[in-house]
Amino acid sequence: MSGEKNNITAPIRTTTGIVRNLTFLEHRTANGHPENHGRLEAVYRMLDQTDRLRRLVLVEARPAEEDEILLVHSAAHLAKVAATASRESTALTPDTIASAGSYRAARLAVGGVLEAVSRVADGRLANAFALVRPPGHHAERNRAMGYCLFNNVAIAAAYARKVLGIDRVMILDWDVHHGNGTQHIFEQDDRVLFVSIHQFPHFPGTGGFTDAGIGRGEGYSINIPIPKGYGDGEYTAILQALLMPLSAEFKPDLILVSAGFDPHASDSHGGMRLTPAGFAALTRCLLENAATCCSGRLALVLEGGYDVHTIGDSVKAVLDELSGATMSAVADIAATANPKKVIYALKRVVKVQRRYWKNLSRPMKIDCSGRTVHI
Ligand code: ZN
Repeated sequence: MSGEKNNITAPIRTTTGIVRNLTFLEHRTANGHPENHGRLEAVYRMLDQTDRLRRLVLVEARPAEEDEILLVHSAAHLAKVAATASRESTALTPDTIASAGSYRAARLAVGGVLEAVSRVADGRLANAFALVRPPGHHAERNRAMGYCLFNNVAIAAAYARKVLGIDRVMILDWDVHHGNGTQHIFEQDDRVLFVSIHQFPHFPGTGGFTDAGIGRGEGYSINIPIPKGYGDGEYTAILQALLMPLSAEFKPDLILVSAGFDPHASDSHGGMRLTPAGFAALTRCLLENAATCCSGRLALVLEGGYDVHTIGDSVKAVLDELSGATMSAVADIAATANPKKVIYALKRVVKVQRRYWKNLSRPMKIDCSGRTVHI
């Protein structure tokens, strides 16, 4: 795969896939529900208005097979979600609502993600972003939760391993909420490294620093729970400091991202301060990691993000990085971080994880706000 790295730095040669489909809008929640079809409508409108489709390759979604959903979910959970198709509205939890069109949308979301990941895995696409709903990362093996029906990213990771011949998968979850479902599905697995940066304390309440996995999977769950108020600089500095050493040691064959846009400064679901420039920097950071460790194989899946006025701009910033239209200056953005906030997170992560990761036991030097921070 020589020359792959050049694909990342030579914009013209990259091919970025997207999954979009109007069926995802048929998942109707409830009047005033934050996870509503207006979110994707805003994203799709951005795609049309900014002429992005010319540079992006549309990946056709297909309904996931039952066997594919059962890679991570129980038959009882699949049956429960399937049964919602016969009713106008079903509350799977007080805030996780399914309409008659939800099962169809959820199966198509999973299938769309699997198609995108398949194309990234075999090199037909350089990278991809599945713009789907319902979201997935709170969905547990046996239950819906937090607006999520099927765990799209977890199914994709399991599918990549069982069907696509991928051995190791790294999942980064930057949604403002902890990806409890994804972590629990893989917490005993040493072939899926789950890294989550999220607001804490916050819904769903899981994902503390010491929550590091179980049994053979100990050390393969890496949680970065941070108080509200972190912005572009801090997110970028923290992930830049952790991802490269981790991926150099774990050597993933594929990187998946649970891309939520609720850490945006104007999102009512969190207290973070990210802007499109921050999401672009995180994407660039991941592209660089993927280029170094897995021939650039990177696929993002939409999770949360509830401000319909800003989600389009945030997704646009990510797509511009993926397709090479822009090249975010990661180091410059990281350099704007508040050193205290970076030290708070990194010291605690390193303290827990250095017993599992040789590369995290080495001293770290990070430049932020004109200061060199030593961890
Ligand atoms: Zn979220």
